[in-house]
Amino acid sequence: MADMSPKKNPMPVQDPLVRAHNFEEVALGYSEETAMKEAMRCLDCKNMPCVSGCPVNIHIPAFIAKVREGDFEGAYEIISMSSSLPAVCGRVCPQENQCEKKCVRGIKGESVGIGRLERFVADWHNAHSEKEVTPPEYNGHKVAVVGSGPSGLACAGDLAKKGYKVTVFEALHTAGGVLVYGIPEFRLPKSIVAKEVETLKKYNVDIETNVIIGKTLTIDELFDMGYEAVFIGSGAGLPNFMGIPGESLKGVYSANEFLT
Ligand SMILES: Cc1cc2nc3c(=O)[nH]c(=O)nc-3n(C[C@H](O)[C@H](O)[C@H](O)COP(=O)(O)OP(=O)(O)OC[C@H]3O[C@@H](n4cnc5c(N)ncnc54)[C@H](O)[C@@H]3O)c2cc1C
Ligand code: SF4
Repeated sequence: MADMSPKKNPMPVQDPLVRAHNFEEVALGYSEETAMKEAMRCLDCKNMPCVSGCPVNIHIPAFIAKVREGDFEGAYEIISMSSSLPAVCGRVCPQENQCEKKCVRGIKGESVGIGRLERFVADWHNAHSEKEVTPPEYNGHKVAVVGSGPSGLACAGDLAKKGYKVTVFEALHTAGGVLVYGIPEFRLPKSIVAKEVETLKKYNVDIETNVIIGKTLTIDELFDMGYEAVFIGSGAGLPNFMGIPGESLKGVYSANEFLT
């Protein structure tokens, strides 16, 4: 029997008086009890409108059903079939405009807290799971990925799970792209991104940092090295200047430079 309460279970957050003095994550995440309670709000709709709102079509009611049963690892396995970065997406994916926007519970109240549940499941897995990742058998094909932002990492994860040998080339010294140098710590801790990158490495994804494709190595050289395809996920790193006086003065930064 579904829980018909119209509101989502609230997300526990740091006390404002405490968080004003630190840069740590504001949202603290659901407990096991709260997650199971929130999962009770899902109606397990046959036509699954939430799934059509998810860009990667995570089987949302199926993973929520596992949370309801307390099978958090089972929930993680379902999410992982469609997403390589669940702890990241559970935090910064704009769920309110995607899966949650289409959730039928949103018609007469608040949608199911799908994002909060995704975050809970990923964090639970990272904290508790001792299950070893078994990389799929190598299919004999090598792919290079340029850029280790979410697009590059997601591409690498999907291909690695299909047996491709993937190398991600990143110009900067840390993998993650805007996830690490743009989105602030209080919203997406760097340790969360690092953990997701570690998981990808377990699928035999190689990450080569400090390599600028186009300078350190060219695309042609990548093909000469045996890569059969190159995915370019280099982001939108170049700023747009406004053409106003003084913008090239010392101490005036573009937003991109400021964030980096
Ligand atoms: C402050 C801020 C907050 C945001 N908050 C959110 C949010 O809450 N939710 C949300 O969904 N989105 C958010 N975004 C947007 C989101 O971060 C971006 O849409 C996303 O990071 C784009 O991913 P990407 O992989 O395409 O590129 P990027 O994250 O930009 O990654 C590209 C990577 O490619 C590397 N690279 C570039 N050129 C080369 C080269 N020649 N050789 C090797 N490597 C190269 C770069 O160094 C970089 O690491 C936010 C953005 C900012 C700036
Ligand atoms: S639309 Fe909402 S209530 Fe229906 S299955 Fe999806 S999450 Fe559950």
